[in-house]
Amino acid sequence: MYRTNTCGELRTSDIGKQVTLCGWLQRSRDLGGMTFIDLRDRYGITQLAFNMETNSELCQKARRLGREFVIQATGKVIERSSKNAKIPTGDIEVEVSELNILNEAKTPPFTIEDQSDGGDDLRMRYRYLDLRRAPVRRNIEMRHRMAMLVRNYLSNLNFLEIETPMLIKSTPEGARDFVVPSRMNPGEFYALPQSPQQYKQLLMVSGFDRYFQIVRCFRDEDLRADRQPEFTQIDCEMSFVEQEDVLQTFEGLAKHLFKEIKGIDFEPFKRITWHEAMKLYGSDKPDLRFGMEFKEITDCVKGHSFQLFDNSELVVGIVAKGCAEYTRKQLDSLTDFVKRPQVGAGGLVYIKYNTDGTFKSSIDKFYDADSLKRIAQCMEAQPGDLMLIMCGPSMKTRTQLCALRLEMGQQLGLRDPHKFSPLWVIDFPLLEWDDETQRFYAMHHPFTAPKPEDEALLDDPNRWGDIRANAYDIVINGCEVGGGSIRIHDRTLQNKMFHTLGFTDEQAAAQFGFLMDAFTYGAPPHAGLAFGFDRLCSIFAGADSIRDFIAFPKNNAGRDVMSGSPAPIAQAQLDELMLDIRQPISQ
Ligand code: ASP
Repeated sequence: MYRTNTCGELRTSDIGKQVTLCGWLQRSRDLGGMTFIDLRDRYGITQLAFNMETNSELCQKARRLGREFVIQATGKVIERSSKNAKIPTGDIEVEVSELNILNEAKTPPFTIEDQSDGGDDLRMRYRYLDLRRAPVRRNIEMRHRMAMLVRNYLSNLNFLEIETPMLIKSTPEGARDFVVPSRMNPGEFYALPQSPQQYKQLLMVSGFDRYFQIVRCFRDEDLRADRQPEFTQIDCEMSFVEQEDVLQTFEGLAKHLFKEIKGIDFEPFKRITWHEAMKLYGSDKPDLRFGMEFKEITDCVKGHSFQLFDNSELVVGIVAKGCAEYTRKQLDSLTDFVKRPQVGAGGLVYIKYNTDGTFKSSIDKFYDADSLKRIAQCMEAQPGDLMLIMCGPSMKTRTQLCALRLEMGQQLGLRDPHKFSPLWVIDFPLLEWDDETQRFYAMHHPFTAPKPEDEALLDDPNRWGDIRANAYDIVINGCEVGGGSIRIHDRTLQNKMFHTLGFTDEQAAAQFGFLMDAFTYGAPPHAGLAFGFDRLCSIFAGADSIRDFIAFPKNNAGRDVMSGSPAPIAQAQLDELMLDIRQPISQ
C-alpha cells in the first residue's frame, strides 16, 4: 500500500498512529538538529520531521531531497511543538522512520506555492506544475463540484444527459466555425460545433423532452480578452414549455448552485426587458450590484444655446453619490477615460451639486444656478452628488455612458466580486441590423421565435428592427452567463425567418434541410438555454478570468503554449487530406 492517509487529513486525534504518506516536497527547512519537510498532495500539506540525533542517516537523506521530489514517508503522528494555525494539519507532524524517493524532480521553473514567483507565460507553459498550486487546484475542484451539482439537479428533474456529435456540418450563421478536413471525403470538411443547437432541437423532435449536456463548444472568433476558442456550456432543451417554465427551471438551477457553493439564498431574480436594460444601464448585461441608473435629461437641457446638447439626439447622465468633492484631476481623468478609443466619446460634462447647495459645472457658461438645479432635480441628485453627463446618438451614447458607469462603480468600490446580483434580461430584439453587410442578422440564432404578438411584423421589412424575440439571458454581475429562447417549431414560420435573414430556399435547404425535414414529422413546442460553464465558475469564485477554471486553457492568442498548438502538420498528412496549403483552395 502506497499510503495510509493523505497529506490533508491528519489531526490531533491521530496522534500516536503509524502512517504512510506520499506526495511532493514543497519545502524543507534545516534547523541544525532537526529537518522539516512540507509534504504536499491534492488534499493538503503535512509536516514531516527528521531528527538528526535519533536518526542521523535518515535525516541526512532528507536533506538531500530537492523541491518537488515525489516521496513516501512512514512514521508516527506526533504533536507539534510549534503549531501552525494556518493549515488544518498544523497541530501535528509525522516523525519519520522510513523514507522512499519515488521520483526525483528537476527544480521547477517557478515556486509551487500559493503566491508563485512565476509570471503568466511561464505558468502557462508549465501548466501541469501550475495545477499543483492550491489556488489553481481549488478552482478545478470547485468546477467539478459545480458540474456534479448541475448533473444531479437536472437529472432529478428528469433531464437526460445526451452526447451530440463533435464533427458536424458547418453553418454560416453565428461565429466562424473551426473546420476539420475529411480524409475519406477529399475536399470536404466537418465543423466543430459552436453549440449543439440543432441536435438538441432534433432530440426534442425525437421526444426526449428534457435534455442537457455539459459540452465543449468551439468558436473561431477573434480573441477578445478572456475568450477561449473552446469553452464549455451547460446546454439544455425542454419540450412543451413556455418561457416561464424555462426561467423557473434554470433560475432554480442557479439558486441551487448559489446555495450549495456559496451558501447564499436568493429572492426571485429580477427581470427586466432588453429595452429597459438599455435605457437604464446602456447594456443588455447590466451590473446590478449597484444602482447609478441612467437619467435622460434631453428635454430638460435643450434651449440654452449650448449647441452640443441642442444638437444631440440623447442627453443622459448618472449621479455619483457623494462625489461632489471630486478634484479637477479626478474629473480630467474621467474625461480621459471616456475619450479613450475603447469608449470613444467626445467628452464629458460634469455638474457638482455642492453640499452648501451651490453648483459648479463645466457648462456654467450656458446654465445659471436655477437651470442647473432643474437638471439636478431631473436627475434626482442631492447636495454632495456629482452628475456626469454625455450626449450624442442614443445607442452610442448609452454604450459610452455604460462604460463610465462601470468605471465609477469600480472606483467607488461598488463592484464587490463576492456580492452577486443575478437577473433575467427578457424580450431581446429578434433581429439586429449590420451596417457593414447591410442586412439583418438573428440576434440570438435563426431558430429563436418572435413574440407571438410581434409575429405579424415579419411581413413588414420596415418594422423588422422592432420585432421582439422570445429570448432571455441570465446575467450575473454584468456578465451574460446564459441565454436561450423559445424555438420556432413551425416550419412555415421557420422558412419565413430564413427568408428574413436573406437565405434563399436553396440555401436554407442546404444548410438546415435536415432540421426543416424533422419539423415536418411532428416537432413539439420547445425551448432551451445554455449557460457558459467556465464563466459561471469564475463568477462564483469572484475571479476575473475564465482561464483559471480550465485545466488546460489557451492563451489570449488562442495558443496552447504548453503543447505548442496550433502547429504545422507534415506534408504527408496534408497530402493524405488532399490539402495544398501553398495554393488557395478554389471555390
Ligand atoms: N445555443 C445557444 C447558444 O449557444 C443557446 C440556446 O439558445 O440554447 O448561445
